[in-house]
Amino acid sequence: MSLNPESRTSDPGAGIHENHYCSIASCRKWGGLGYSRGTGDKMTWWCAKHYPHWPEHIAAKYATEPAE
Ligand SMILES: [Zn+2]
Repeated sequence: MSLNPESRTSDPGAGIHENHYCSIASCRKWGGLGYSRGTGDKMTWWCAKHYPHWPEHIAAKYATEPAE
């Protein structure tokens, strides 16, 4: 766990109403799925297709869907 100075300025709930897009640079989709390793850690967001924390059977389902 790293202490990122930037995260200290964000109050609880901050980020929820921010614009956050998929963290994959080439992907312009909305990042509806966030993951943080813990309270106070920076939240990272992904679209459903790029979200890396799906159980494997769900990830496989997204991998077969057209990119739209
Ligand atoms: Zn994406």
